[in-house]
Amino acid sequence: MTDSLRTILILFTAVASLLRAETLVGQCTHVADGDTLTLTLPDKSSEKIRLYGIDAPEKQQEYAEEAKQRLTELASGKEIRAVVMNRDRYGRAVAKVYAGKTDVCLAMVSGGCAWHYVIYAPLDVDLAEAETLAAAQKWGLWQHSHPIPPWEFRKGARPAKPNEHNHPYWVTESGRIHNARCKYFGTTQNGRYTAQPQASDSNCRLCGGTVTSESPSFPTWWNILLLILLLGLLPLILLRLLLIRARG
Ligand SMILES: [Zn+2]
Repeated sequence: MTDSLRTILILFTAVASLLRAETLVGQCTHVADGDTLTLTLPDKSSEKIRLYGIDAPEKQQEYAEEAKQRLTELASGKEIRAVVMNRDRYGRAVAKVYAGKTDVCLAMVSGGCAWHYVIYAPLDVDLAEAETLAAAQKWGLWQHSHPIPPWEFRKGARPAKPNEHNHPYWVTESGRIHNARCKYFGTTQNGRYTAQPQASDSNCRLCGGTVTSESPSFPTWWNILLLILLLGLLPLILLRLLLIRARG
């Protein structure tokens, strides 16, 4: 009995410590690039912060300077609240950053100054939506038709060769198919343009690859569900009608 009680207590403390996020409040005294800044804390110590869920263009990439400029406008000299999500391998705090009511990470993506760093914040719908909108409006870095994600650039990706034959698909090195509507079309490392993807290639879940939006799998299921519902309701409606008749 006491053992199980102790286990529950340990579990409870573990969950509580997970839920208790570390929050730093300080003045932004330096902006290194579009996703890194330094806070000077009340005790005069400084803390380097990597902005959570976003990735700004690398220094050698286009739009890097504009991204740094934008972060400077948003944060420099201001009082910043940083909610630490985790620490990276250099011990740097990775944090959601707020300047007053402004969500700085979100503002960077909304303005087309940074990418949604999707592998580190896959569930952040706000960042995903902001990026989709910025790309559709061709704001900031999205002015270029095929900008390279910084994480691909760091792995050595460079702009692809022109699509000479106007092939409709871009297949990445690992066999992922993107169509011309996708933001990854023509961007990823060592891919190829093609008219005919191979059977072993798999469709991108974002753009659908070779699956056209005219034949998605959802409506079929919805139709079946609707049919079942109707078939189930029909006897009930008939019964009700019969009862009304009988009473009349
Ligand atoms: Zn795609």
